[in-house]
Amino acid sequence: GPGLKVISTLSVGFDHLALDEIKKRGIRVGYTPDVLTDATAELSVALLLSACRRLPEAAEQVKSGGWTTWKPLWMCGYGLSDSTVGIIGLGRIGQAVARRLKPFGVRKFLYTGSGPKPESAAEFGAEFVPLTRLAEESDFVVVTCALTPATQGMCNKDFFGRMKKTSVFVNTSRGAVVNQEDLYNALSSGQIAAAGLDVTTPEPLPTDHPLLSLKNCVILPHIGSATYATRSTMAVLAANNLLAGLRGEPMPHELKL
Ligand code: NDP
Repeated sequence: GPGLKVISTLSVGFDHLALDEIKKRGIRVGYTPDVLTDATAELSVALLLSACRRLPEAAEQVKSGGWTTWKPLWMCGYGLSDSTVGIIGLGRIGQAVARRLKPFGVRKFLYTGSGPKPESAAEFGAEFVPLTRLAEESDFVVVTCALTPATQGMCNKDFFGRMKKTSVFVNTSRGAVVNQEDLYNALSSGQIAAAGLDVTTPEPLPTDHPLLSLKNCVILPHIGSATYATRSTMAVLAANNLLAGLRGEPMPHELKL
């Protein structure tokens, strides 16, 4: 409405806000960075392991009677030992993901972004590379960038076409970073091994969506930050942002527009 003075979003992402209009009208925006980083990184790792070790598919086999005599190659997947991991967007969450994956025995980290970030990359010895090289060399691709005009549709036919047939794709950023039709084609044709998505377009994803028919695609309902403790901390921060905004005081976390 015309009287709107303050927006407080219960998220670190702000791609759902009409920033041009908000800026023009002098509306202040509070958001919740940092407090959800650990929970979202943890979920990213859980999703990666679920996809590469085929956990939902394997658990389903137990229920359906598909689990019979031991077979050497049954339900095999891909592990992190000695792997190359590519992080698209080495921000707060991207670094927290790399920090958690490193002890699994990752050999090499690659990353992309708007430019090299040597201070952030040093902890992992991560190498800044073009997106094409990240796609070609990574055994695991983890997308943790913000959704912007530059990242929208970035993971497309060309990107998946460069990935190895044995590689695994994970997205915990925003659904629109991925061209879902191209991802479907890459997964169904065996161009890539598996994918794990916490975010989709649209949300919720229709239950008859083609991606849901694939065994090698694990889809979660946008639960990155969904721990009791994190959601509680986010709620307190969002309330404090709103109150400070309404009082005309500095917000604990205000988005610089
Ligand atoms: P940050 O701002 O710390 O990190 C965002 C990163 O995106 C930056 O490192 C930035 O890199 C990178 N980026 C921007 N443009 C590009 C580009 N063209 N190519 C590659 N990378 C790019 O944010 P957070 O880490 O806190 O959060 C990241 C995103 O995660 C949020 O925007 C949100 O959409 C999503 N998210 C999802 C959740 C979920 O529940 N699944 C929960 C929380 C967040 P650079 O610095 O080089 O520009």
